[in-house]
Amino acid sequence: MSPTHDTGADATGPGSPPAARHYIGGRWTPAVNGGQFPSHNPWTGAVHSAAAAGSAEDAELAVDAAHAAFATWAVAPPAERQGILLRAADLLDRRRADIRALLLGETGCARPHADVQIDFSVSLLRQAAGLPYAPLGQLLPSDIGGTRAAAVRRPVGVVASIAPWNAPLALAARSLVGPIALGNTVVLKPSEESPVSGGTVWAQVLSEAGLPPGVLNVVTHAPGEAGAIGDTFITDPRVRRINFTGSTATGRRLAEAAGRHLKRIVLQLSGHNPLIVLADADVDYAVDAAVYGAFIHQGQVCMCARRIYVQREIADEFTSRFLAKVAALPVGDPADAGTVIGPVINKWALSLLGRRVDEAVELGARVLVGGTASPPCYPPTVLTDVPPEAELAFDETFGPVVMLDVVDSADEAVERANSSSYGLAAGVLTRDINRGLEIARRLETGIVHVNDQPVNDEPQMPFGGVKDSGWGRFGTGFALDEFTELQWVTARGEPRSFPF
Ligand code: ADP
Repeated sequence: MSPTHDTGADATGPGSPPAARHYIGGRWTPAVNGGQFPSHNPWTGAVHSAAAAGSAEDAELAVDAAHAAFATWAVAPPAERQGILLRAADLLDRRRADIRALLLGETGCARPHADVQIDFSVSLLRQAAGLPYAPLGQLLPSDIGGTRAAAVRRPVGVVASIAPWNAPLALAARSLVGPIALGNTVVLKPSEESPVSGGTVWAQVLSEAGLPPGVLNVVTHAPGEAGAIGDTFITDPRVRRINFTGSTATGRRLAEAAGRHLKRIVLQLSGHNPLIVLADADVDYAVDAAVYGAFIHQGQVCMCARRIYVQREIADEFTSRFLAKVAALPVGDPADAGTVIGPVINKWALSLLGRRVDEAVELGARVLVGGTASPPCYPPTVLTDVPPEAELAFDETFGPVVMLDVVDSADEAVERANSSSYGLAAGVLTRDINRGLEIARRLETGIVHVNDQPVNDEPQMPFGGVKDSGWGRFGTGFALDEFTELQWVTARGEPRSFPF
């Protein structure tokens, strides 16, 4: 391993990680087999960047590097760790224009979603800079005279992070910043759809901020090749924790495999999130909240509102204003400042949206607005009367499609909200906060917002779901539970007596 790290700053200009390279042990290296793959701009269809097409061999080299770096990083002075994280925050903040362009070009997100991710990541880095100074444990009274006992938190070792494409910068950030701040080393595997904005950009920023070689390693891969890298993370005994953000189907497979190896895994999975609009809600606000919650990043956020339940008393008024606002949302080139709905991530996602909407309609649903693809975009779409057997009704569909239904009471809204196998986030709109909090208590979700829609995140909050939405929590304070191990330590100055 190199004693110094290579920031890559002069390879393709400041702020751009070198093309088609992994970042392993402080060096930008091609895939072992020399392979590359293109990532595409979802709006133009043109090649956006070339990334290294890694395999299990590359993942193993990355684990070697992370394992080798751990002993030193685990005992690095808190001030050193803090300084790196603060410098990284400043770098990211200064480069926001470049990073915004990168997110837009690689994932097709419009400006608001790029800004949310950059703000989140900068804030996370600054908050996590305090983690190296978090108290490391407790002294515990012992009934054995002369024994001093403590519960001491220690970093776990190598953490493998598997991140998705839909908010690549922020979701990669939360998968690695907390673990690194706490003294772990990380191997990051971004999505094949966002190898740069969800992967190598972090190696570039953190290495430039002074992160020692091997503390963060990034391995990318071509479409269809994630499995071999994931298998390495699960089977290599040096990887002590995995965190995964992605679909429930993939998370379930990983959890089953991790279980065989008794390896802990944080799972942030799919959602099918309800937004409840009670009769006393402010209708103007409810419309704005519902439009944002359903259509931010063209509905490609796990927290997006997928089901809106509006109480009958205000249903007509809410529906007509909601549909008018949805129909007027600007669709098109995410580079245009006014665009709200940009392209969906790829052709497969576009065809899935079309298939599921068509299926719902064949089964009896009615389209209130939208409903016909205009490649590479899918227009913001509202359906009603979607029967429970339609895939749209029970499975997460990443895209700008939301179901709207009228309910007769708050109780009915809660019952229907809880009828999902998922349990990520929810929103309850009412002028009566106490009533909202009571409904929040009854909702089977890991996250609930009263008088807000479901799409929210802040680095310090306990982010995560229940039921098929996963387990474990991200969040700066909560990362301690996930990415440290408690060791019970006792020490005696004098011999003790034993019964035999
Ligand atoms: P999505 O369909 O939203 O991309 P996925 O669950 O397929 O959701 O992807 C989330 C992340 O999981 C991505 O980084 C992807 O490459 C990764 N992934 C997909 N399949 C596997 C697998 N078998 N093992 C490990 N990671 C995987």
